[in-house]
Amino acid sequence: MLINNSKKIVIKLGSSTVVDNKGKFKKKWVKSLIKDIKKFREKKDLVIVSSGAIALGQNYLKIKKKKIKLEMSQAIASVGQIHLAGEFQKLFDKHKIKTGQILISPDDTEQRRRALNVRRTFDNLFKLKAIPIVNENDTTATAEIKYGDNDRLAARVAQIIGADTLIILSDVDGLYDKSKSRKIIRTVTKIDSNIHAMIDNKKNLYGSGGIITKLDAAKICINAGCHMFIGNGKKNNPINNMIKNKIYTHFIPKISSLDARKKWIISSLNSSGKIYIDQGAAQALEQGKSLLAAGITKIVGIFEKGENILIVDQNDKGLARGLSSFTSSEINKIKGKQSKEIENILGYLSKTEIVHKDDMVKL
Ligand code: GLU
Repeated sequence: MLINNSKKIVIKLGSSTVVDNKGKFKKKWVKSLIKDIKKFREKKDLVIVSSGAIALGQNYLKIKKKKIKLEMSQAIASVGQIHLAGEFQKLFDKHKIKTGQILISPDDTEQRRRALNVRRTFDNLFKLKAIPIVNENDTTATAEIKYGDNDRLAARVAQIIGADTLIILSDVDGLYDKSKSRKIIRTVTKIDSNIHAMIDNKKNLYGSGGIITKLDAAKICINAGCHMFIGNGKKNNPINNMIKNKIYTHFIPKISSLDARKKWIISSLNSSGKIYIDQGAAQALEQGKSLLAAGITKIVGIFEKGENILIVDQNDKGLARGLSSFTSSEINKIKGKQSKEIENILGYLSKTEIVHKDDMVKL
């Protein structure tokens, strides 16, 4: 089985898999997970992405309310995260397995330099033979700059560290189809309208992110060359069970020739803006050329240099994703102009490619 042969695995645990409905950490279940992990840990680098900070914090602080304001949930997460990491640390320690805590914000993964730094920290933890226990940094993340779900966060971490497998343990066996018998979809190779039409949304409404964020996570993995599994985290020894009973949904990645940098570009969470281009520029892009100012007809959004943007044709069809070498206000001044005019218009010497081919991935 593929999981056995993977070298670097990220395991994502949803809140309901690690915290019971009374708000208590599910020690017994986590112990059974550690038993599974112990079997193959010597040969693999492992990462655990665990939710549950807010749920544990609420229980500890005796806050029963379901709807909590963001500022308060940040404070609750701060209390709960210590407990969450502490529980893992105690249980792993019993097996002499070291752990480390990493709290991540979208800036850490969406800015290239910081993403490389994140990767280095993970690599060094692997060298120390410690298992990174990851969660979103809920204590400082505000609504606009928040992942909000750990599915996409786990996928982005998997992509950045070059994991070959992401296992999402949730409260169901996998994706269900729409048939009467509600069969599990065994393999998925593409996240498109077909898969959205095929899945049964009622049955699939699980986890804080629901099915949508799981499919978003799958998209990131498929582009990054990382296998993704959704399996049942309700049963003890969840990984062993998945392997033995073969019940899960497996998202098979594309064979990708993209380098790590381009994989990072294509699986960026959001685009900060859109650049509309004419037919001539679209043809040039198709031939693998850079995007020049002359072919740009319109831009939407405000962005800085180096931000991820979407390049679209006149009908809004996505053609490529890339990092812009110019700010949106600069592009507004030079769009439709010849490259030799740029210096005169801006009043300073700059690059001529708006998005360089090395910073661009065709869709
Ligand atoms: N980061 C949140 C927590 O630990 C959970 C996010 C999620 O459930 O995906 O409570």
